[in-house]
Amino acid sequence: MEHVRQDLSGTREARQLVRGQPTSDGDGVKLTRVIGGRSLADLDPFLLLDEFGSESSADYIGGFPSHPHRGFETVTYMLEGRMRHRDNQGNEGLLVPGSVQWMTAGRGIVHSEMPEQEEGRMRGFQLWVNLPAKDKMTAPRYQDIAPERIPQVKGADGSQVRVIAGDYADASGHVTRGPVQGIAIEPLYLDVTLPRGTRFEQALAASHAAFIYVFEGQARIGGRATDAVRGDLAVLGEGDRVVVAAEVADARFMLVAGRPLNEPVVKYGPFVMNTRAQIVQAVDDYSAGRFA
Ligand code: FE
Repeated sequence: MEHVRQDLSGTREARQLVRGQPTSDGDGVKLTRVIGGRSLADLDPFLLLDEFGSESSADYIGGFPSHPHRGFETVTYMLEGRMRHRDNQGNEGLLVPGSVQWMTAGRGIVHSEMPEQEEGRMRGFQLWVNLPAKDKMTAPRYQDIAPERIPQVKGADGSQVRVIAGDYADASGHVTRGPVQGIAIEPLYLDVTLPRGTRFEQALAASHAAFIYVFEGQARIGGRATDAVRGDLAVLGEGDRVVVAAEVADARFMLVAGRPLNEPVVKYGPFVMNTRAQIVQAVDDYSAGRFA
């Protein structure tokens, strides 16, 4: 491990390890809520992180029938399975394995997210990203990213990084930019696969909130070497870079970071605004059909 830096100042440590809780949403879809539930209410600017994964169609077949969103963004990352997306403005798309949908709901959309399969594995994540006050009523926008548009950086050691959003600099310093663009919180979203015995390093803006969610194997995080296993979310503390090693097993995790908004958050189901009055307005607009 010749490139292990002796100086670990600036390295972000796992400040807190959190495990998600089993719950269900939509029409009985079983999932694990990692952010946005009792274990971690929020992590500004991130409002929610759900992991779904099942071989049994009963756990997902109900899908997420028609429902609204206003005031934030939903980011769906599919690992396995297919999901059909349709909204009230005529937009439609199929999320396939390895694809990402970054949906800026803005002033409002009404959509459904339904499985396009009756059997087999369905697996992936949905992250909710808050919008700054000035953008909450922006026009809805979709970034549907096909799997082949997500750069995959392979290291000589067998490590692999899928760059969904933000910049990733590999060991040689070459920078790869993710396809998701123009997002207010300047996100970093990486899917990192580390074979046992390899390590990963990435610069992070010191002012940005960041977390690692381990979804396969086991990873050792930071200079104090906090071990996180499958299903652990590590909230990262202060610093300007992160170091992760796969010491005892292969590891796969997401590294997500973004600029905190430091604005009041008032949540009511699928509406996330800054004031109670704006929530009342959202409920009124939705019931009066003004999301069209
Ligand atoms: Fe939705």
